[in-house]
Amino acid sequence: MRAALLKQFNAPLSLEEVPDPKVGKGEVLLQVLACGICRSDWHLWRGDPSLVAYMEWSGGRLPIIPGHEVAGRVVEVGEGVANVAPGDVVVAPASSTGDARTCRFCREGNSNICEHLWIPGFGTHGCYAQYMKVPAGSVADLVKVPPGVAPEYAAITGCGFGTAWNALVVKGGIKPGETLLVTGLGGMGLSAAMIALSSGAKVIAVDINPAAAEKGRKIGAAAYSYSGKPEELAKLVNEEIVKTYGIVDAVFDTTGNPDVLSAVLPAVRPQGRVLLAGLMVKGKETWPLASDLVVARELTIQGILMLPSQRYDGIFKLLSEGRVNLEHVIHRRISLDEVNDAYKALSEYKSPGRFVITKF
Ligand SMILES: [Zn+2]
Ligand SMILES: [Zn+2]
Repeated sequence: MRAALLKQFNAPLSLEEVPDPKVGKGEVLLQVLACGICRSDWHLWRGDPSLVAYMEWSGGRLPIIPGHEVAGRVVEVGEGVANVAPGDVVVAPASSTGDARTCRFCREGNSNICEHLWIPGFGTHGCYAQYMKVPAGSVADLVKVPPGVAPEYAAITGCGFGTAWNALVVKGGIKPGETLLVTGLGGMGLSAAMIALSSGAKVIAVDINPAAAEKGRKIGAAAYSYSGKPEELAKLVNEEIVKTYGIVDAVFDTTGNPDVLSAVLPAVRPQGRVLLAGLMVKGKETWPLASDLVVARELTIQGILMLPSQRYDGIFKLLSEGRVNLEHVIHRRISLDEVNDAYKALSEYKSPGRFVITKF
């Protein structure tokens, strides 16, 4: 099969012909229909420490086929697989159980924080390929995609959209009538904005890319772009956003950037929520938190790691009813051959939304 391999950090992925995966007992083979390029893949490609550590902890090593936002058609199942059958179109959620839902966290309905967490493209080969194998310990978390939901959209629910759904709906991060500030309008930020807007909240968003802010405005958010300088963001927040819209009820951060977090924290109301879903880059791995402010305002700081497959209910209904249009989240549909161009655009922060590989 054709695949793109990460052989060396910060070097172009290598497009190669590799052997087709062989399916063993309890395993499932997917023909990849759509694969989103998530910024986490880019973080691993750069060699950012937390992603490399996760890859190594979960048994992955270079060369590896990246990719964890996947929708695929089941083409083969191993002995004993009963929950899916050949022909089914499924999502393998980016944060899946690795122990067939047997650990404490899986049993409590949170397989996204499984003790043996499986993320395709980190622990095993991912979806930048024609086929992807799902390990036996993770098959229980496959989610069937109903007819009528495009594979590109289904793929994005596996990470970007799913993470926003977890933060805002499952964890109740936003309520109708409230105001949400979204930092970073990539695939996940746009998803969060649309979910919040569809639930009757007001959305304000900031991004360093004017094209992303433009896209934010198109979907109904009050979106601003700025140069990337932290002091400029602080000024924008204090002198424009808070003055115009008041103090916000919650922040959904997709940037993982300590400077961004420090700039927006003072804009959160007492008992407000700071929802963290971004990952940090090398050299900026800690956030010097103004904990006095957290104490004085009784703020809640909540980390969000993708979405447990147990909590998918409602997502496909929302998409099927057209209440959220994931087309806005897609920047471009590309072929596998274009994957290095997509990484270049991600490095330049110039892509408003997701690249989705649809040709293999
Ligand atoms: Zn992701
Ligand atoms: Zn588990």
